Amino acid sequence: MAKPILVLNCGSSSIKYQLIDPDEETVLAKGLVERIGDAGNGIVTHETDGQEWTITPQLHNHTVALQAVFKMFDDHGPGLKNVTAVAHRAVHGGDRFAAPVVIDDEVIATMQELVPLAPLHNPAVIEGIRAAQSLLGNVPHVAIFDTAFFTQLPEEAYTYAINRDLAKRNAIRKYGFHGTSHQYVSQQVPAVVGTDLGELNQIVCHLGNGASISAIKGGKPIDTSMGLTPLAGLVMGTRSGDIDPGVFAYAARSEGWSTERIDSELNKNSGMLGLTGDTDMRDVEAAFEKGDEAAVTGMNVYIHRLVFYIGGYAALLGRLDTLTFTAGVGENSSFVRKMVCDRLVGLGVVLDEAKNEARDKAPHLISAPESKVKVLVVRTNEELAMAKQTEHLLAS
Ligand code: ADP
Repeated sequence: MAKPILVLNCGSSSIKYQLIDPDEETVLAKGLVERIGDAGNGIVTHETDGQEWTITPQLHNHTVALQAVFKMFDDHGPGLKNVTAVAHRAVHGGDRFAAPVVIDDEVIATMQELVPLAPLHNPAVIEGIRAAQSLLGNVPHVAIFDTAFFTQLPEEAYTYAINRDLAKRNAIRKYGFHGTSHQYVSQQVPAVVGTDLGELNQIVCHLGNGASISAIKGGKPIDTSMGLTPLAGLVMGTRSGDIDPGVFAYAARSEGWSTERIDSELNKNSGMLGLTGDTDMRDVEAAFEKGDEAAVTGMNVYIHRLVFYIGGYAALLGRLDTLTFTAGVGENSSFVRKMVCDRLVGLGVVLDEAKNEARDKAPHLISAPESKVKVLVVRTNEELAMAKQTEHLLAS
């Protein structure tokens, strides 16, 4: 009999969920709740067995939202009585959580202490945990942190060159995010290239709306591009990625902006949106093809930053064996992959253009046989990874 795990991803105004059978690697149901806390109506969309249902109740908070989700399961199935655990995507674990953990009062108290590091994300996660525990109290609830994989980073990679006492007092360091994806994707690579994980020097490019890149040696991360917050590193849909830290103070003075205003500008109005007016890479590509000046510049900035990181990480690794693309842009944009690989001839990268264009859901190679670095496309699946990690934790 299936032993499904309910995977929950609670954001400030949304909840994504999947009911997963981790052994069969199948999704039994999935759905999305939007506009939680909105004065108007919320939206709950539930999919199972190839059918989809939508309801639009008022959703004052996460408890009411999860009650609506559970009603969807009651009305349309599958039943939740066999659920063995609930896995919660917890964003920021600071340096406190290096692995998934069964949630108890102490874990929630620690997550509460970490709220200043992730003021938008962690409160929603805690509220979601409390709501789910009240509705499904008889099974273990597990927290899986986006930062956990990167707690293994070496000190020289996670330390910022600022005053040591200031850093210590405020826990200012690189934490890294998208860890579940970087770990899952890097673990798919050995089977494709026929080399053990322990022998591989990898770079993984997670290019979605949020984007990050990591260097992984023998299965362990040695650097990653996101930092104290998910704002650092690559150019993203709406986030700036790396800028001169001096821009912050300069913009405060020249525009008279508050800290909150600058934070919001860099997180929500920058990246591809700020450069081109579009956040979706499909729109940027279409505008680029038409020769739109802002799109051409924006795309070149995006690629330049990515190539810069790949070169730096190749140097840190000493030898680069594999370069893997994942997430929305990485999995779907042959255009971005080609632009990146064309600039990596210096590293011995040779793309197989036909393979790059072919669509294949399974992890696959897109480099030519003579390429010194094997280039891959691997679909990420953070929900499945979370369900498997939860099953593993509870079996141990
Ligand atoms: P996130 O989980 O960070 O919200 P995803 O990994 O789902 O993001 O990626 C979403 C992004 O993927 C979209 O905003 C879009 O830019 C990009 N994307 C999806 N399909 C394509 C495609 N066919 N070509 C180019 N970009 C695509």
